[in-house]
Amino acid sequence: MLNIAIDGPAGAGKSTAAKIIAEKLGILYLDTGAMYRAIGLKALRLGIDTRDAERIAAMLPDTAVTIKYIDGSQNIFLDGENVTPYIRENKVSMAASDVSAIPAVRVKLVELQRDIARNNDCILDGRDIGTYVLPSAEYKFYITATAEERAKRRHKELTDKGVDISYESVLKDIAERDKNDSTRAFAPLKKADDAFEFDTTTMSIDEVVKRLLARINCEL
Ligand code: C5P
Repeated sequence: MLNIAIDGPAGAGKSTAAKIIAEKLGILYLDTGAMYRAIGLKALRLGIDTRDAERIAAMLPDTAVTIKYIDGSQNIFLDGENVTPYIRENKVSMAASDVSAIPAVRVKLVELQRDIARNNDCILDGRDIGTYVLPSAEYKFYITATAEERAKRRHKELTDKGVDISYESVLKDIAERDKNDSTRAFAPLKKADDAFEFDTTTMSIDEVVKRLLARINCEL
């Protein structure tokens, strides 16, 4: 199976680029962040402290996270409910970052990710795909951008969706997630030694896609 890994911090352009590449190559796109978001959402709904490793771990045996592709796009189901519309809120982003530091959460979700990658040609985006989930993926990328540029992109995405939020608060959340994600003990956000790294701060999404495809040796 062809497996392509794209890691990097929030707002670097991973998911937009990965979706386009998946379509061009006719392979599956797997947004692994959505899985952590689903677990974070469940904890928020149950009123469980998202940093309480013991209570979150206790919630897991009764928690089913599944992926279904509807009209070609990924939908995430939590205990049978399609929660795709509810996982993009800022408070869910923070909850996802909190629960993702809990090893039991990662073990459960990584198993599902590996299972999908074993059975499908796919491109996965996340934080630890190249280092931990699929260390032998054929292609590995690590893309970054300045925190300010990433916050600008995320702010636009949210305000375009009608969310009322300031740029400063998006920047603060991005910085906090960067710190959480890169300092956690288990499978932190980190470039794999053999990943191809580039900075997308001044690049358009088309340029990002071209750069990735050039590396995958594919014509546009
Ligand atoms: O990619 P996205 O921003 O949707 O991810 C939400 C959160 O889920 C991240 O901030 C990170 O804490 C966590 N995550 C992770 N490992 C992944 C994907 C996401 O820890 N492979």
